[in-house]
Amino acid sequence: MRIEDPKIVAALPELSVELRRASSLAELTSLAIGGTTDLLRIRDHESIPGLLSLLDYHGVPHRFLGGGSNLLVGDGELPWIVLQLASPDPDVVLEGNFAQVDAAADLGRMVTYCAKHDLGGMEGLIGVPGTVGGALRMNAGAYGMQIGSYVREVKVYRAATRRIEILRGEQISFEYRHTSFAPDDMMLAVKLELPSKPYKEILQGIRKDMLALISNVRERVRSAFSVELEHEVVIWNA
Ligand SMILES: Cc1cc2nc3c(=O)[nH]c(=O)nc-3n(C[C@H](O)[C@H](O)[C@H](O)COP(=O)(O)OP(=O)(O)OC[C@H]3O[C@@H](n4cnc5c(N)ncnc54)[C@H](O)[C@@H]3O)c2cc1C
Repeated sequence: MRIEDPKIVAALPELSVELRRASSLAELTSLAIGGTTDLLRIRDHESIPGLLSLLDYHGVPHRFLGGGSNLLVGDGELPWIVLQLASPDPDVVLEGNFAQVDAAADLGRMVTYCAKHDLGGMEGLIGVPGTVGGALRMNAGAYGMQIGSYVREVKVYRAATRRIEILRGEQISFEYRHTSFAPDDMMLAVKLELPSKPYKEILQGIRKDMLALISNVRERVRSAFSVELEHEVVIWNA
């Protein structure tokens, strides 16, 4: 879909929104499949209510893209435009045991950054691709932990009220790969509270989890198919 209306195009710079014409969703998603459409990159959270009112007023359908790691997009010219948050610099700010994180931040990089500052708890998510916003949307988790357990506040654009609101952690229900956010709510930022843990200990935990996963996969393939997997990963035990 192309944004043709000159009124919309003219309003975008004032809203700090960048228009990227004919963006290929194949280039923006992990599965590398998908057609083309116009993409709007949002640089200022505060412009979102105005932008969405403008799009709705002119009848422009839209979808929200995070890191594109959990999306299978149809081919050809897509019948909607795509909105995406641009990541500010810095996208993670630490204060004691709290991390204030932009929804556009890369999840793995955020977890690593916190770990290097001796903040743990979320290390199971280090290998999960995507953005922090995408992880919040579906309560991403791995190795027995989930992001929702560490959420203290979420800054969200609520489609129902057309306003940006701050929700406290206890106002949100985080279930297995599911949250109570409405389908058209947009997560903008999150405040996480993370337990203190030395970086060295965090690394040891990740290593233990990885080795257990590899051995579990090998065992399951062996018992289900009587096949001995080759060692794809070279393990150097210290
Ligand atoms: C190899 C691989 C391994 C994975 N392993 C795991 C795993 O171990 N655990 C796990 O939980 N998941 C896993 N996933 C799934 C995926 O990484 C998560 O779902 C991730 O959180 C999606 O984030 P994203 O930013 O890429 O979202 P996208 O794929 O861009 O979007 C997914 C959905 O979230 C919505 N969304 C994205 N950002 C926002 C936002 N800011 N506000 C509102 N809605 C938003 C989109 O509209 C869309 O509906 C894996 C995926 C891959 C490819």
